[in-house]
Amino acid sequence: MKSASLTLSIVLLLILSGCVETPGEQIISESVASEDWAPDGVVRENEYSRTMVVVGPARSGYSGGEMEISWRNDQEHLYMALRGKTSGWLSIGFDPLEWMKDADMILGTVEDGEAIVLDEYSSGNYGPHEDDTFFGGSYDILESGGLEVDGHTVVEFKRRLNTGDKFDEALTPGQSVSIIWAMADSKSRYTKHNVAYGEAILVLASGDETAIDQISGTSAATLSPREEEGVLFIWEEEKVARDLYKELYRETEQSIFMDLARSEQSHMDQAKTLIDKYDLKLPVKDEPGVFSNSTLINLYKELLARGMQSQEDALKVAATFEEISIVDLERELKVADNDDMRVVFQGLLAGSRKHLRSYVMDLQDMNIEYTPQYMSPREFDEVVKD
Ligand code: ZN
Ligand code: ZN
Repeated sequence: MKSASLTLSIVLLLILSGCVETPGEQIISESVASEDWAPDGVVRENEYSRTMVVVGPARSGYSGGEMEISWRNDQEHLYMALRGKTSGWLSIGFDPLEWMKDADMILGTVEDGEAIVLDEYSSGNYGPHEDDTFFGGSYDILESGGLEVDGHTVVEFKRRLNTGDKFDEALTPGQSVSIIWAMADSKSRYTKHNVAYGEAILVLASGDETAIDQISGTSAATLSPREEEGVLFIWEEEKVARDLYKELYRETEQSIFMDLARSEQSHMDQAKTLIDKYDLKLPVKDEPGVFSNSTLINLYKELLARGMQSQEDALKVAATFEEISIVDLERELKVADNDDMRVVFQGLLAGSRKHLRSYVMDLQDMNIEYTPQYMSPREFDEVVKD
């Protein structure tokens, strides 16, 4: 075991040493929000300071689609628009603990020309989400509006960054907040999302609007060979996660492995949207336990063997795998310039951080302290105590 982990550390070190140190940008497009905000269902060019497009692929139960999230904030308020190709509802959830659990959610749709924007909270991983008022909280959407035109729905809303309601996430200027998003084709809030869903990281402005630099850089419409390599590697690494957790579930029957294997499938699907869009070829057939990259083959074998020894070991190797995944995604984000790639990888990174937190918490429940193997103690603490 020891020697194999050593080899892995060396491989990682080698990869890390080859990377170019450019600061990571979280933002897809930025502009100065020079226009007044108006909740009229129209996202005007300079109404928001930041916009990102999140994509969910078509797969069983989902028709596939993309959602555009636009936002701006000052020291006190958050202004946001959700836009997507659906006549049903759109939603965003702030800072879920795992999948949907404890997410501060906002759902919106347009019915008979009128926007309905709900302030909700999800109590469990797969919902249910209910109005904050149902749990004893308050309705904190200050203003809202929306429009449905040509099969596209836009909802806009304003809330305080910190509403004071314990069922809302207390947001702060400059914060990076992990989000989930989803769309359904129905206007009924009780219809499960069936168009698309995913994860991403949203970065709030520092609150000093004048400090936002206008970024002129336009992203290339192609991938460099280095980026292509990164996309294929990350798809395969997500596959290792899925296959590993499926095996660990079979062995230990701990439900967390089944839940997170499902989440890794969604990560693979998100990486696959890049593979399809840029005409790349899957590095290996999607068959369980089959990989092409020798580092990943060894990693899978070693972690699986160790994880099979006990419930505790299973959780530990899974946490270790998420650490490796985080380090790898951060490395790829440092060199990735392509916007599509950055959006997908930021989402995967948000997912891995949540997974790491979940495994570490499950270990804590067994009174076992997990020590980071690959991340710096500082970064590890930030993720786990988030
Ligand atoms: Zn993943
Ligand atoms: Zn994961």
